[in-house]
Amino acid sequence: MQNRSAIRLGIISALQEEQAGLVEAMQGAATLVHGRRDYTTGTLFGIEAVCVLSRIGKVAAAMTATLLVEKFQVTHILFTGVAGAGDLAVKVGDIVVADALVQHDMDASPLFPPFEVPLTGMRAFPADAHLSSLLSSAVDQFLTEDLASAVGQGEKTQFGLHTVKLHRGLVASGDQFVSSKATITRLAAEHPGLLAVEMEGAAVAQVCFELGVPYAVLRTISDNANETAATDFLHFVRSVAARYAFYIVTRFCALLHQPSRESAGTQS
Ligand code: SAH
Repeated sequence: MQNRSAIRLGIISALQEEQAGLVEAMQGAATLVHGRRDYTTGTLFGIEAVCVLSRIGKVAAAMTATLLVEKFQVTHILFTGVAGAGDLAVKVGDIVVADALVQHDMDASPLFPPFEVPLTGMRAFPADAHLSSLLSSAVDQFLTEDLASAVGQGEKTQFGLHTVKLHRGLVASGDQFVSSKATITRLAAEHPGLLAVEMEGAAVAQVCFELGVPYAVLRTISDNANETAATDFLHFVRSVAARYAFYIVTRFCALLHQPSRESAGTQS
C-alpha cells in the first residue's frame, strides 16, 4: 500500500493553454522528455507534482497516464482541460467535475453491450470520490474568491460569464471533436445525465482504474459541441480556461497539502 502522506500528483492536459502557468509556478522544476512528451517534475504549491501535456485523443491520454504512474511514480492524477457542453443546462464558462467517465465511441456490440469496455464489465469508470470532492471544493473557492479578478471584463461580457456554475456528473470521451447539433443530441440521448464531451478523460479513467490510482477530471466548458464549436474554442481556451485552470489547480494543491491529506484517495 502506498504511503498516503507522500502524494505525488500527476497533472495532465491535452493542450498547452489548459496548463498555462503551472510549469512556471513549479519550484525546482526539471523536465524529462520521454515518448515525445515533456514531463516536468517539481514542487507545485507545496505538492510534489509532475506536469505533462498528453496531446489530443484517447490513445495519447492513456499512454501519458500510464507513464505518469509507471515511470514517474505519481500516486494521484488530475486531468484539467476544456470540453463541449453535453446538456442545455451546462453553459460555456461553466465547470464540470466528473463523477464518472464513459467512452462514447466504444462499441463492440453484439459481442458486448454498446459503450462497455470489453472484458472489464464496465461502461462508465467512476472518478475517485474524495479527490473529486476536494476538486469541487477548489472550484467553489475559485468561484467565490478568484473569478472576479481572474478573467478580464471583456471576456466576461463576450462569453456571458456572470453566473458561472459548477456541475458534477457524467463526462463522455471519444476520438472526435463534436461539432454538430445532431451528434451532441445523439450522445446526450445515449448517455443519460451527460454533462460534457471531450477526447481524453475516459481513457485516463480506464488506466487509473486498472492501475488503482485515484484520479479526478476537471473540465471548463469551452463550446456547445455544435456547429459553432470550433469558432468559440480557441479564444475561450486562451483567455478564460487557462485562467480558470491556474487558479483551481492552485487551490486544489493547497487542499491536498492540508493535514487531512492523509485521507486523499479512496481507490487504492
Ligand atoms: N482546435 C484545436 C483542437 C482542439 S480538439 C487545436 O487546433 O489545437 C479539442 C480539445 O478540447 C480536446 O482535447 C478535447 O478534449 C476538448 N474539447 C473541447 N470541446 C470539445 C468538443 N466539442 N468535442 C470534443 N472535444 C472537445
